[in-house]
Amino acid sequence: MSKTIAINAGSSSLKWQLYVMPEETVIAQGIVERIGLNDSIFTIKHGEGQKYEVIKDIENHEIAINMLLEQLTALNIIDSFEEITGAGHRIVAGGEHFKESAIIDDEALKLVDELAEFAPLHNPAEAQVIRVFQKVLPHTLNVGVFDTSFHTTMPAVNYLYSINTEYYEKFGARKYGAHGTSHRYVSERAAEMLGRPIEETKIITCHLGNGASITAVDGGKSIDTSMGFTPLAGLTMGTRSGDIDPSLLQYLMGKLGLTDIKDMINILNKESGLLGLSGVSSDMRDLESSDKESAKLALEIFADRVRKYIGSYVSAMNGVDAIVFTAGIGENDINMRKEIINGLTWFGCEIDEARNDVRGDERVISTDDSKVKVLLIPTDEELMIARDVEALKK
Ligand code: AMP
Repeated sequence: MSKTIAINAGSSSLKWQLYVMPEETVIAQGIVERIGLNDSIFTIKHGEGQKYEVIKDIENHEIAINMLLEQLTALNIIDSFEEITGAGHRIVAGGEHFKESAIIDDEALKLVDELAEFAPLHNPAEAQVIRVFQKVLPHTLNVGVFDTSFHTTMPAVNYLYSINTEYYEKFGARKYGAHGTSHRYVSERAAEMLGRPIEETKIITCHLGNGASITAVDGGKSIDTSMGFTPLAGLTMGTRSGDIDPSLLQYLMGKLGLTDIKDMINILNKESGLLGLSGVSSDMRDLESSDKESAKLALEIFADRVRKYIGSYVSAMNGVDAIVFTAGIGENDINMRKEIINGLTWFGCEIDEARNDVRGDERVISTDDSKVKVLLIPTDEELMIARDVEALKK
């Protein structure tokens, strides 16, 4: 039986799911957290609710993967490594080169390394994981599934910043977007739920998690997205500021006595967004249970930015058939979905409170009379990754 592993490697974590393909059955999944730190946590879930967990120091991704392979056989999830015929790796930055998922040979791996300039925290870890796979599973086909690929269909009108075009031509300074695999998955599902060919649909996909982005999907193609050159742009996020006037950086650096722009960017990435606004937490659940005015204001700002992006994408596409909610907040936050849609009645959106009273269940949550359908679609990036590997195996 052919098995494919979908890998999502972060700088200090590694999430994975093992599929039997083409049946798309998940037979095991797991996560390694705190790689490179003390007391790393290694978890595997498999079978019927069985769980394997060990806490020990795991120094790097190579050790994590070797542990994972060892346990897959020790727990009888696979009989031999040869069964894993494909590995799909989520890669954050694919630049303009990777317009779709691609087999990662040595040449492609070199490009992934070069693109680290666009995603210094992610691409190097992902490249390292692919190298480990090449070494320990030499028979396995490695496929890169890029966060940016789905957005390579954006027209220049939307990917160019209003700066000297030489900066784009010489240095690649443009909007690339992110979360593409998720936006692609939910937009395809949305068209299926609408019962129409995707080529004839206009869909706005809202991936609202700790990182958050919104995409305008016209005829199945991303034509604009809220993240920018990096995932720092766009919406208010858990700890990221989203859109901001760049001049403020210079002003604040002066006030804070910072001399290295990296420190300022770090503040915008790690200490801003819901956390910075509320002073309470980056987690929606904490804000919703807090009595603090700052937490309430943070929630209002979050909803406001989402609405404004939706509004601008309705005009960018000159219409919309469906608005989709996905990811941690989009799938689970009943109140936030209501808050957002209740501010969009002018566009013909009407939420059905009973249908909306649900977490993580794929369904229509607008009323039958709503001109625009509002859909709740749990994302499944890993499945998309496994499918892309399967397609390239042929
Ligand atoms: P993600 O990055 O997609 O895992 O989403 C993480 C975010 O989802 C967290 O910051 C939480 O704020 C949010 N979230 C998860 N569960 C709930 C829930 N039941 N209600 C509200 N927000 C939730």
